[in-house]
Amino acid sequence: MKEVDIDQIMKALKVVLSESKRYNLHEPLFQGNEISYVKECIDSTWVSSVGKFVDQFEEMLAEYTGVRKVVSVVNGTAALHISLILAGVTTDDEVLMPTLTFVATANAVNYCNAVPHFVDSCETTLGLDPIKLRSYLKDIVETRSGASFNKYSGRKIQAVLPMHTFGHPVDLDLLLEVCNEFNLVLVEDAAESLGSYYKGRHTGNHGVISALSFNGNKIITTGGGGAILTNDEVLGKKAKHLTTTARVAHKWSFVHDQVGYNYRLPNLNAALGCAQMEKLPELLSRKRLLAEKYFQVFKGISGVNFFREPEFAQSNYWLNVLLLEKGFESSRDLVLEATNRADIMTRPAWRLMHELDIYKNCPRMDDLSSSISIEQRLINIPSSSFLS
Ligand SMILES: *Cc1c(COP(=O)(O)O)cnc(C)c1O
Repeated sequence: MKEVDIDQIMKALKVVLSESKRYNLHEPLFQGNEISYVKECIDSTWVSSVGKFVDQFEEMLAEYTGVRKVVSVVNGTAALHISLILAGVTTDDEVLMPTLTFVATANAVNYCNAVPHFVDSCETTLGLDPIKLRSYLKDIVETRSGASFNKYSGRKIQAVLPMHTFGHPVDLDLLLEVCNEFNLVLVEDAAESLGSYYKGRHTGNHGVISALSFNGNKIITTGGGGAILTNDEVLGKKAKHLTTTARVAHKWSFVHDQVGYNYRLPNLNAALGCAQMEKLPELLSRKRLLAEKYFQVFKGISGVNFFREPEFAQSNYWLNVLLLEKGFESSRDLVLEATNRADIMTRPAWRLMHELDIYKNCPRMDDLSSSISIEQRLINIPSSSFLS
């Protein structure tokens, strides 16, 4: 086993993080109209699920992402849940997803009484590997009346749920080819990738339906929040209906035509979101600048690489990534210890989904070697926009 030079890494970090204070992984920045919009919302008394900021926030998101219909909801997990329902995911279906993701991706599938099916990621994007997926599906899929079935479990495979890891887009063209070939619905977990583009087109604008998150640690925040994105008007209407308790529109009567969800984003949160959206272009340029600074200071340090966007992408660099070279795995925990001891918050990737007790019995590729290797070598470093 080779080791990186910890002093060299600490020195490089200190060039960018030069003050003596605590550096968290990702903090929000409120330097615009946040207080004024939130105050306006409170003064109006329309703080809950109806109000002008909800409509305005949804319009701003639609315009920014280029997606026709946006429905804001209470958080990104709820957005994923509804997206999967509308993608036709139902009891006992399987949904293909990377094992290298945040637990919400798998949980949302579980909420549909469906089964996550874990596949490998690739090192160029940190996201789902479409080439490996294609050859895997050739082995395990049996086609029955146009649909793909897992011939080992007997279950229908309904959808593919890629995640744009730390803001870096997966290769969506290749993935769409695989989806078309096997008749699978593409749902994007774009929770981390607001402001990230694949070949000039915003992430979340490639699948049938997608989910964003505005949790406190994401690139913009509404406190808690999320959004469903789709270009399909019918799905958009259904998303609104399903997230507003499936109430039939009427001036006074309360009639619900299916079991819906109370997933609406409150107006108060949307007010915060409107102010954050106004600042998104500035946040993005700050974050890209910070990534460039990190790239420069880590250049030439042996055993470690600063992860850069894939060549087809423009990334929001939501959480910056140091990737140790193969052979240097044992250095990961040494770097984590040294940095956190110095009040520079760093953390490893999530425990892989197929290794969690709750999901260890789910179907998966035998070969998850790239995800395992990435997990052993990855370190997230402080990424707040104001650090640039
Ligand atoms: C943040 C996140 C979510 C969920 O968002 P919440 O708003 O926290 O519910 C889902 N998937 C991924 C990959 C995320 O990073």
